[in-house]
Amino acid sequence: MRYFVIGNPIAHSKSPQIHAAFAAQFGLDDFSYERLLAPLDAFAQTVRTLMAEGGGGCNVTVPFKEEAFRLADTLTPRAAAAGAVNTLQVRTDGSLLGDNTDGAGLVADLLRHGPLAGQRVLLLGAGGAARGVLLPLSEVLPAEIVLANRSVDKAHALVAEFAPRLAVPLSACAFAAVEGAFDVVINATSASLGGAAIPLPDGVFAPSALAYDMMYGKEETAFLAHARAAGVARRIDGLGMLVGQAAEAFALWTGRQPDVAPVLAMMRGAL
Ligand code: NDP
Repeated sequence: MRYFVIGNPIAHSKSPQIHAAFAAQFGLDDFSYERLLAPLDAFAQTVRTLMAEGGGGCNVTVPFKEEAFRLADTLTPRAAAAGAVNTLQVRTDGSLLGDNTDGAGLVADLLRHGPLAGQRVLLLGAGGAARGVLLPLSEVLPAEIVLANRSVDKAHALVAEFAPRLAVPLSACAFAAVEGAFDVVINATSASLGGAAIPLPDGVFAPSALAYDMMYGKEETAFLAHARAAGVARRIDGLGMLVGQAAEAFALWTGRQPDVAPVLAMMRGAL
């Protein structure tokens, strides 16, 4: 049972610790999970080599998720919707199944902190992360999803693509044009990387709102600092999403659903 995480760069990846902890929960002594640095122009070759050497699959991270999507022979519906693959599984016939577990990881983490059904959800961002979560998020039936992005045309393009496929209302607007109060506000932009807050109107957070930043780290992100200043009590970073997407990949590969909570606590302690 040899698995990998492929990216460039890859040295920073926390996935090996997470998967080792999952494997320990089931006493899977023959489960191994390693980092693999793929040259920027040789992702497909790297995957073929790991397959030839008996690898069972891999996680895929920046910048190869779209290439993994093109490389997969078959796709799960959520990977097809995302247009990106973060998990590849080598099937018994030697073909490659592509999945995207990021959205399921986010939804599982959100549900640990409160309900989503019937809630007004504001999703900030229209990049790969936002794409990947729209379908899984819609499946837990929020009242509606509003997508806001700095480049508003990208948000409108995502709505045009996704709205016909989702069971819940989906609309787009610019940050400054967001109207009303939201129960759940998710930051799927990379704005926090540069320390920038997102210019949202006052009153965007409902009184008992949940603020969620997909970014995580030792320090509070700019988005969560903004939420705190706005009086939001429930503020969560994206570490649980990271562990959650790993749990989904582990379950796909091994048929075993790991217990996320103790692994999340361990990873939090190691930040
Ligand atoms: P992309 O590069 O695909 O998209 C970036 C998005 O951020 C775009 O919508 C972009 O807007 C927006 N953006 C960038 N800078 C700013 C800014 N200063 N102000 C406002 N908006 C900005 O990135 P991803 O979608 O792949 O990733 C987004 C974030 O999600 C990252 O921080 C990443 O680390 C995190 N992530 C976390 C995961 C986890 O497991 N916790 C998993 C996946 C992602 P525009 O279109 O206008 O350029």
